[in-house]
Amino acid sequence: MVITYDFGHGTGEDRGAEGYRNEEHDCREYGALVIKKLQSLGHTCYDCTPPASPALSLSQSLAYRVNKANSIGSQFHLCFHVNAYETDKAEGCEVEYISDSGKVYADKVCAELSNTLGFRNRGSQLRTGLYVLKYTKMAAILIEPFFCDTKSDCDKYDSEKLATAIVKGITGQTVSSQLQPTVATPVETIAKYSETIPEGVFQVPGTKAYIEQRTDGGVGIHLDRGNYITIGKGFIDLYWNDNSGHGGNKRISS
Ligand SMILES: [Zn+2]
Repeated sequence: MVITYDFGHGTGEDRGAEGYRNEEHDCREYGALVIKKLQSLGHTCYDCTPPASPALSLSQSLAYRVNKANSIGSQFHLCFHVNAYETDKAEGCEVEYISDSGKVYADKVCAELSNTLGFRNRGSQLRTGLYVLKYTKMAAILIEPFFCDTKSDCDKYDSEKLATAIVKGITGQTVSSQLQPTVATPVETIAKYSETIPEGVFQVPGTKAYIEQRTDGGVGIHLDRGNYITIGKGFIDLYWNDNSGHGGNKRISS
């Protein structure tokens, strides 16, 4: 399947939590291992984490992730995070979701994390207010494997075991680190987007082009779903894609 993902925080005003361990570091460490394992199983994975830039606001950081995942049109989106509360006050793993299809993954990933690493299973959690879960169009989960400000949780941290448990939860398969070098390189499949026109947009008469009000408050001017300009307050994002595997995006701001 085509999977998109983003590593939490790490850019501009969007900062992760800090306790006995550091969220930005750890979610990139275990998350990268998850992606390697998914790739070794033949899944095609696309990183939707924004580039580290001091200029990005929190809302820009979040919108970037959603826009990129939606323009790739993956079947599943994964957000890697680490939880935090107050020092040594909360413990355990939880996985957040918004859709029924997300809940199926959330339940399994949470159970694997708890069984494999011994974290208290806080269970899957319905979260309707989380931006990335709310605005991505595919099944999505946000993983909070442990609390970085709880000593007993941090003592159990093992990036390799954590990644193996998450992949087992998602795919039902176990990929150990020893197996990875013998697995063939995955076949790259091209993420195709639909060239249909979404409902509720202003279509330019006689063309496939359209203008839409976006959920992040901006306006999008589209040639089609893969080629467009979004205008927000103080920035403009450009997205291009030939629908044959080549595309990109660029932010223009002062
Ligand atoms: Zn976080």
